[in-house]
Amino acid sequence: MGLATSTNCVHTFNNIMNPLSSSITFCAALTLASAGRAASVGSPFYGDAPDDHHPWAVHDANRPQPRVVAPGTFSSQEQPGTPPADAVILFDGTDLSKWEADEGTGVPTKWVAKNGAMECVPGSGYVRTKESIGDCQLHVEWAAPTKVEGNGQGRGNSGVFLMGLVEIQVLDNYNNPTYPDGSAGSVYGVNPPLVNALRPPGEFQAYDIVFRRPVYKDGKQLDPGYITVFENGVLVQDHTMLEGATGHMSRSKPSPFPAAGPLKLQDHGNPVRYRNIWYRPLPPRAIEGGTDGYLSTDATMTKRAETAAMIRKDAPSRKDAANPLPELLRLTESLVYEQDEETVEKAQQLATQYMESVQKLSPAELAAKKDEIKHLRDITRYLVRFNVIPADAEPVAQLDQIVKDQNWDKKK
Ligand code: MG
Repeated sequence: MGLATSTNCVHTFNNIMNPLSSSITFCAALTLASAGRAASVGSPFYGDAPDDHHPWAVHDANRPQPRVVAPGTFSSQEQPGTPPADAVILFDGTDLSKWEADEGTGVPTKWVAKNGAMECVPGSGYVRTKESIGDCQLHVEWAAPTKVEGNGQGRGNSGVFLMGLVEIQVLDNYNNPTYPDGSAGSVYGVNPPLVNALRPPGEFQAYDIVFRRPVYKDGKQLDPGYITVFENGVLVQDHTMLEGATGHMSRSKPSPFPAAGPLKLQDHGNPVRYRNIWYRPLPPRAIEGGTDGYLSTDATMTKRAETAAMIRKDAPSRKDAANPLPELLRLTESLVYEQDEETVEKAQQLATQYMESVQKLSPAELAAKKDEIKHLRDITRYLVRFNVIPADAEPVAQLDQIVKDQNWDKKK
């Protein structure tokens, strides 16, 4: 008998390929040594198998666990909140060491840190981070001067410039209308905010921004880039497509961005204050090599191959002279991600060994293996369904036959 004996099977195998990934322990659960239970969430051979664009099965326990991040706290007017544990803090209320004047590297900024905020000194120019920042989640709080002076664009104007290129407008727009695409929370000159959710001048306003820069390859745009902004917790930019760098009077034009650039804050002649500035770099998108999301077939197959290799490497640790099942199942699991002739051969040998041992069982011993054998029968059905093994692979019929002969599918 064999898991995959026919030529058609090898052909099928070659068409299937796939890989897997990392945490390994769930296979211990699979170790039918402890008997066959119905497959449960997180065990292999459960959710739909990987395909051409998804390197993971549905509910795949091999998929890497999300990283644990201790969240921060929200701010009040009196007290800035604390950033999440993995945030890069750009300004904590006192320390301006991560900032410099926009005039040139190492030129100290004339903006000042006082009363827990960094304040624009009108005429001193933009301030920028010394570090370069690309795709990110950015948190910024700002306050327009309490004393209201000027109107329109002249009142409490500043700006948050992602990568120094895309301005999210900062403006005291509270009871102070201006052109919509220059309102607070606008992508300046491109897209007005969905609503005006500002607090009165003097109070701190919070911007939470998700920034994805444009991605180009060989001069071709793969992703225009998008920006999402919450103003005081209210959505004002909803995954707004970027149209290039923003500017005054001129229409923005799509163009390649570098991988990262400094975050800049604008000096527009008003003593706007900032506090609690932090960001979290974002992982690459699928389009630029990320491994989550809807992947290209190439990227999917690469990831599936990695996962299969990881499982194949682990399989020998399941070897048990008295019980071929743990190793057999681990090897078979790898085939769900990627076909591999050597693995198929080994699995066939172990499957043969197992089926021969089953055939030698006394009726009482066989009865004791009811759950295990039914579970294996279900696994073969899964493998056939996802073309991992051909429908005519011997164990399929053999296990079916045993279950039928024993009348184990009969409802109680
Ligand atoms: Mg501005």
